[in-house]
Amino acid sequence: MKAIPYGRQTITDEDIQAVVEVLKSDFLTQGPHIATFEQKFADYVGAKYAVAVSNGTAALHLCALALNVNEKSNVITSPITFAASANCIKYCGGEVFFADIDPKTFLLDITKVRALIESKPKGFFSGIVPVDFAGNAVDLEAFRKLADEFGLWIIEDACHAPGGYFIDSHKQQQNCGNGNFADLSIFSFHPVKHIATGEGGMITTNNPALYENLLLLRTHGITKNATQFQNEASEVAQGGWYYEMQELGYNYRITDFQAALGSSQLERAAANLERRRVLAKQYDAAFENTAIIKPINHPGNAYHLYVIQIKDRLGLYNYLKENHIYAQVHYVPVHLMPYYQKQGYKKGDFPLAEKYYEACLSIPMYQSLTDDEQQYIIETILKFVK
Ligand SMILES: *Cc1c(COP(=O)(O)O)cnc(C)c1O
Repeated sequence: MKAIPYGRQTITDEDIQAVVEVLKSDFLTQGPHIATFEQKFADYVGAKYAVAVSNGTAALHLCALALNVNEKSNVITSPITFAASANCIKYCGGEVFFADIDPKTFLLDITKVRALIESKPKGFFSGIVPVDFAGNAVDLEAFRKLADEFGLWIIEDACHAPGGYFIDSHKQQQNCGNGNFADLSIFSFHPVKHIATGEGGMITTNNPALYENLLLLRTHGITKNATQFQNEASEVAQGGWYYEMQELGYNYRITDFQAALGSSQLERAAANLERRRVLAKQYDAAFENTAIIKPINHPGNAYHLYVIQIKDRLGLYNYLKENHIYAQVHYVPVHLMPYYQKQGYKKGDFPLAEKYYEACLSIPMYQSLTDDEQQYIIETILKFVK
């Protein structure tokens, strides 16, 4: 029988055709498909600007650089996330602080964040990295208020939530990554995420200055735009080869064929998201009145993951594996990673995150999962529970 993973990409003939066309063209990297993909993605999430990069981690690193994270920066994030949400601060020499999660949403608990901020002198913290974990959108309106009160910036890690949203206090839908509340938002196009480009990432923002800076940092800090040149006019006037490296940037570019794949995938993103929501409803119904704790059901959930909680998590994980269903755990709390333990964190620091981790299991959730496959997964889980 075919193995069922917890998540996987879907590649259509149109996707393949889109990539092949680029391979036959003059541009492999830095071609015209990058700007097209950026524009389409910005439109999809409702942001003004988008910058495509080589992966989600590079997106986080560039955001930290653009916000001047340095040795004096102290930044707060969630222990229940992929390590990269925290690592981007360390890349720039800053210090990472965690606050515990809300046990119902599994998201960074804003009351814990406030308590942490207030426990230090004013000006101690410089930013917050909230994570739209599993596809559940953070209430960024509330986080923006808190951030403004203390002069902090926000990087929204929206890797799990393209197409996700929350409803603000004026009953308006606020899409993840739309730039209305976060200074910068980031996405990943790793194959297990909603949109796959192999490796790939995106930053969205409504801030033109940050946008210009990100473009520079993405490609070595080099500009060929004459209106931005800083050197004497006599040097600049030499010829068409002239460019300037103005800041210490990186090569975090995406390739043109990945961007073409991204644009092609984006055509189906809304339909795929609907499919994920249907699958979630079907799981919800199947686990009604069982010992399984279901994830919070919110219409704006983008369901990157469907995370259940169960007492005998290891037992279920192994039983599913015996039956060719490959569930996964998201995540081992970041503060318990040996690297972060060496920074002084230890077991017991964030009890709600640790309790969540003891029981959580991500069961298969991806757009091409068929109803038959899902039925098999449900039956297998219910058999184990009974
Ligand atoms: C996948 C992911 C990243 C990193 O993205 P890559 O493209 O794999 O570098 C960062 N944060 C979260 C929450 C993720 O899920």
